[in-house]
Amino acid sequence: MVELSIELGSVLLLAFGLKGLAKIRTARTANGLAALAIGLAVVGLLLQQGLDGWPWMLLGLGIGGGLGAVLALRVAMTSMPETVALFNGCGGMSSLLVAIGAVQLPTPLNLVGQVSVLVSVLVGAITFSGSLVAMGKLQEWLGTPGWTLRPQRHAVNIMLAVACLVCCVLVLKGMAVTLIPLTVLSLLLGVGLTLPVGGADMPVVISLLNSYSGVAAAAAGFVVGSELLIVAGAMVGAAGLILTQVMCTAMNRSLTSVLFGGALGAGSSEAGDGAGGREEYTNVTSCSPEECALTLEAAERVIFVPGYGLAVAQAQHSLKELARLLEQHGIEVRYAIHPVAGRMPGHMNVLLAEADVPYDQLVEMDDINPDFPRTDVVIVLGANDVVNPRAKSDPASPLYGMPVLEVDQARTVFVVKRSLGSGYAGIRNDLFELPQTSMVFGDAKQVLQSLLQELRSLGVGKVAVGSGSAR
Ligand code: NDP
Repeated sequence: MVELSIELGSVLLLAFGLKGLAKIRTARTANGLAALAIGLAVVGLLLQQGLDGWPWMLLGLGIGGGLGAVLALRVAMTSMPETVALFNGCGGMSSLLVAIGAVQLPTPLNLVGQVSVLVSVLVGAITFSGSLVAMGKLQEWLGTPGWTLRPQRHAVNIMLAVACLVCCVLVLKGMAVTLIPLTVLSLLLGVGLTLPVGGADMPVVISLLNSYSGVAAAAAGFVVGSELLIVAGAMVGAAGLILTQVMCTAMNRSLTSVLFGGALGAGSSEAGDGAGGREEYTNVTSCSPEECALTLEAAERVIFVPGYGLAVAQAQHSLKELARLLEQHGIEVRYAIHPVAGRMPGHMNVLLAEADVPYDQLVEMDDINPDFPRTDVVIVLGANDVVNPRAKSDPASPLYGMPVLEVDQARTVFVVKRSLGSGYAGIRNDLFELPQTSMVFGDAKQVLQSLLQELRSLGVGKVAVGSGSAR
């Protein structure tokens, strides 16, 4: 009875935790709730199963927990997609091992148990090898070998899938030993499906693999008879699928083209690299932080557009400080958030939350786009693709159709980046040549610090906080 209440309690806590993660304001507490739920689930399981073999459990807890903690403390925000891929892979591997372990037990499995074992092994192994490949590609340890882009790869993957199904049938007919080739073939299938995917599409695949890891965990839940694992796995599976869909829409990609288009599909980084990113710009205006500060000082409404480069430069605290200074000067400050700015969903929200930027100043793309025409100054900080007007005007562009932040409608635009280099999609950005645009070349953090210095020397922000506008 106690164990059942603990299990029910942890399921509820987990559900509340997942719900809370949907809002930035509640995300931190929600994460704590979900962690508590998993802790409770472990306690419930120990009460139910006893403490036999506790030294092994402690060893597993120490190694797994220790590695997880070190990784979480050391990982850079820009490497979060790789980390998520690794964690997904661990989830897939766990389900695979649980299923293989269950087969070794003397108690025979009924049909549901057998099918669940097969799903756990098949999906768990695909998730494991696919996630490792995804991590390797994002870390640039692995490239996209030319042969994986040939159309014949589909035939190879189909053959692997058919061979997996044959193994499943043989296992159901009593040949348990066929689980070994099933595992090997599923691992190969995971590699075969993920290796050809282009770099820019990889986070979508990671989200899909996350969904797979949920399915594998739910199946493992059926194998070991754990309601909690079934519920948690199903929630992860559904959440991963929804996120995959949201990301595809935001990047203007269909899931089929991500999965089967390969690295040469439109929108992939490889496609873009040679597709205009190195074209010469002929009419670019640049200015110094000093000139930018003078324009800022005279503005009434300012919108910051953060992008991947802001995360690379770790300039979020300097940005918050600049915003504070401008607000003290009576200037309205907001941040325009594009759904795929950065390298993972919600990247910019997390980055700015780290610097304690008030949530109500973060405005989503659809809500802020109508405001650009009445905005005096837009400062684009390390963003590129998400502000590229080509996405609206050039049907040949890999970005065509992707909704973008319409900063080209603002009166003055400053683009802060280190060079005229392209963004993730690898294409030129027409924004850089518009008459209202000035490039401010440099690392985002250094430019922001120079701006702060210049504005202070102009006397901006000399009013004590809380005493109202200076103008
Ligand atoms: P981009 O990748 O388009 O551009 C980032 C820009 O930052 C670069 O052009 C680079 O220019 C600049 N930069 C890099 N380092 C610095 C620095 N230290 N200081 C200043 N600037 C710097 O980023 P966006 O955020 O605009 O767009 C995200 C892209 O990633 C989109 O194409 C999106 O589809 C893709 N993507 C996003 C996912 C998500 O979930 N968020 C998932 C998958 C892909 P320079 O080198 O000249 O400095």
